[in-house]
Amino acid sequence: MMDPSRVRQNWNRIRDAVAETAVSAGRPAESVTIVGVSKYVDSPTTAALLSAGCVDLGESRPQSLWQKAAWFDQQNDPAARPRWHLVGHLQRNKVRRTLPLVHLIHSVDSQRLLEEIATESAGMGRTTRVLLEVNVSGEQAKTGLSPEAAERLLRQTPALPHVQVVGLMAMAGWATVGDQARRQFSWLRELRDRWQQEQGLPLPELSMGMSNDFAEAIREGATIVRIGTALFDS
Ligand SMILES: *Cc1c(COP(=O)(O)O)cnc(C)c1O
Repeated sequence: MMDPSRVRQNWNRIRDAVAETAVSAGRPAESVTIVGVSKYVDSPTTAALLSAGCVDLGESRPQSLWQKAAWFDQQNDPAARPRWHLVGHLQRNKVRRTLPLVHLIHSVDSQRLLEEIATESAGMGRTTRVLLEVNVSGEQAKTGLSPEAAERLLRQTPALPHVQVVGLMAMAGWATVGDQARRQFSWLRELRDRWQQEQGLPLPELSMGMSNDFAEAIREGATIVRIGTALFDS
């Protein structure tokens, strides 16, 4: 387990940096939510991040999210109630077990997955909030829908009442930093603006930016940044 006071220091530093960047971009500090991506650390260290003030927690593997959610349940502490975000790939056979646990799924990357989420959500009598993951890096190895596929998928969402697509998610390309990352984020925002207008769907959320490029992402309109490494530096 990592030293909790170290985790708290890291959290305070990132929280302040995110707030300052938002304000310097002319946006309210509260307009950016930080998802602390806890995939690198154990449950007690994740709990230290939560008690430092990071209520939104993200995992990239569904099994890790299940395990940590169960661990938090066992703590029986009403104050230890994170909002879980799934930020990595979700296999269709893991949808049923994941849905009751998550606040937001960032990584819808196929029509079949979206349909599975819709079907399972209907069966549970719930509505699930999701983001479509768009590949704006052009890299084959990167996950996410091509912009064309994402646009087609968005057109189908009015027919799926139990899923609510609330925005888009993207990762900058491998080793892409600075201006190059910023252009990819800017492209995601432009796609969002265009689809929102053309299809008349509200898409308020833009999940983009990680430890190395969150400032660029916030300047381009990120409403959610997903930060891992920088929170667990020791
Ligand atoms: C790991 C991960 C992050 C966090 O990345 P860092 O560079 O460690 O901040 C964000 N988003 C996704 C999808 C991830 O898998």
